[in-house]
Amino acid sequence: MIKPRVRFAPSPTGPLHIGGVRTALYNYLFAKKHGGTFILRIEDTDQTRFVPGAEAYIVEAFKWLNIEFDEGVHVGGACGPYKQSERKAMYKQYAVQLLESGWAYYAFDSAESLDMLRKAAEAEKKNFQYDVHSRLSLCNSLTLGAEEVSAKLAADEPYVIRFKFPENRDITVRDLIRGDVIVNSNTLDDKVLYKSDGMPTYHLANIVDDHTMDITHVIRGEEWLPSAPLHVMLYHAFGWEAPQFAHLPLLLKPDGNGKLSKRDGDRLGFPVFPLEWHDPKSGEVSVGYRETGYVPQAVVNMLALLGWNPGNGQEVMTIEEMTALFSIEKINKSGAKFDPEKAKWFNHKYLQMMSNELLAHAFAMQLAEKNINESEERILKVISLVKERINFTKDIWEQSAFLFEPPQQYDEQVIKKRWKSDTPEHLQAIAAILTEEKPFCKEHAHNRTVAWIQDNALNMGQIMNCLRIALVGAAKGPDLFEIIDFLGVEEVTRRIKRAISIIALS
Ligand code: GLU
Repeated sequence: MIKPRVRFAPSPTGPLHIGGVRTALYNYLFAKKHGGTFILRIEDTDQTRFVPGAEAYIVEAFKWLNIEFDEGVHVGGACGPYKQSERKAMYKQYAVQLLESGWAYYAFDSAESLDMLRKAAEAEKKNFQYDVHSRLSLCNSLTLGAEEVSAKLAADEPYVIRFKFPENRDITVRDLIRGDVIVNSNTLDDKVLYKSDGMPTYHLANIVDDHTMDITHVIRGEEWLPSAPLHVMLYHAFGWEAPQFAHLPLLLKPDGNGKLSKRDGDRLGFPVFPLEWHDPKSGEVSVGYRETGYVPQAVVNMLALLGWNPGNGQEVMTIEEMTALFSIEKINKSGAKFDPEKAKWFNHKYLQMMSNELLAHAFAMQLAEKNINESEERILKVISLVKERINFTKDIWEQSAFLFEPPQQYDEQVIKKRWKSDTPEHLQAIAAILTEEKPFCKEHAHNRTVAWIQDNALNMGQIMNCLRIALVGAAKGPDLFEIIDFLGVEEVTRRIKRAISIIALS
C-alpha cells in the first residue's frame, strides 16, 4: 500500500465527543500501521456554529490522550493552513470552475420563499428538496436568462452556488466497511457549495481540502454516509481521483437505542467527553474522562474496541499493539453499544499495571489533603492491600479509610446475621491471643486464632466476620490478618472494645 494520508476534521462547535475521539483514533491507527501521515484539520466554515475554546479543547484532548498528529493546525505542515477559515480565499475558484463546467449553478431564491415551499410540502406530508425535480421551477441560473443572472450578480443580490446533480444517475460509493452503497441522483438534494458571503460550505471545503492535502482515505463517522454520494460526484465533476471511504459505525447508548449523547452520560453518570468542558454560553460544565480519574491509555484502549477488535480475543493492548493489529476490514458494520462498566474495567486494568510507587504518590497527596501523615512504607503497604479493588485512584481512600480511622458505622445486616450474645467474649479472647503475639507475626497470629476457634468448636465464618466488622465496619476489605498487622494490636484491641460497646447499644 502507498503511504496513506488521513485526516481528522472536526468542526469546533463544542467539546469533542468520544465518538469523534474514536474516529481520530482509527485514522491514527490506520496511518501508523502503514507508515502514513495523520493530519488535524479544523473545519470551521459554519461561523454560526463556531464556539470559542473548542479548537483549543480538541488540541488539548489529543495531547492528554497521547495521540500525536504529523500535520495540523497546531503543528503546521506542508499543506497548511489547516484551518478552513484561513483557507477561505482558495475555495471560490473551485466553485467557479464547477459553474463553468456546468456542474453547479447560481440560485437566488430567498430563504423565505424556500421556507414557504418547505411548509407547503410538509402540509402535504411531503419533503421539499432543491433537486432535479424542483430546480427548474425555482429562481436560479438554470431558469433565468444569462442577462438576468448577470444583472443580479452586478446588483450584489445574495446568492448561493448549488451542485447540479445529473438526472437519474446511480452513484456508487465504494465503502471499505460497507461495500458498495448505490444511490440514485434523483433522490438527492442539490446541496449548497458556496455562499455569496464568500464562505464555502462543508461539502466544497471538505472535498477541496482533501484533494489539495492529498488525502488518500476518508475515515469518518457513519453520519457522513448520506453526504458521500455528493462527495463522490464532486470528485468526478472536478476530474479528481476520489479517496477511499470508510464510514465507521455509530457509538450507541448503553441500551443500543440510538446514538450516544451527552444526556445519556448525565443520566447514567459517565463522561462522553475526554476533558471537562465549560460551555462558554450556558456556563454548564460537562464531566470529562481526565477529571473523572481515567488513565488516558485506558480510554484509548476502550474506545479502540468499540467497533473494532483484532479477532484474537485480546482486550488490553498498548497503542503500539493496536497499531500492529489494526485493519479496516475488522471494523464492524453495526453500531457499538457504549458500556460504562467496561470503561471502568479498562481503567481498573490499567491501574493494576501501574507501579505501586506511582499510585502511592497519588494517594500521598490525597492523604495530605486530609492532614494524615503516614510513612512512605505504610502508604505503599496500603496500595498493595487495596490496589486490586480500585477502578480509580480516588477509590483508594474509599477502600482504605478504615486503615486510618475506626469505622464510622457497622453494617447492620451483617450484625443481625452474625453478631451473637457471646461474640464480645470471643472477640476479647482473640484480642488476648493477639496481644500475646510478641513480636507480632501475622501468619502465626492467624494460625493461633484459627486453632483457638477450632479448639472451642466455634463457627469460623461467624467469628471472623464479627472480627472484621469490629475492625472495618463491613464484611469487606483485604485479608483480615494483613489489616491487623497494619493497624497494630493496640489499635485492634481498641476497636474491638469500641465495637462491643457500640453494638451492645444498638
Ligand atoms: N467537519 C466534519 C465533522 O465535524 C468532518 C466530516 C468528515 O470527516 O468529512 O465531523
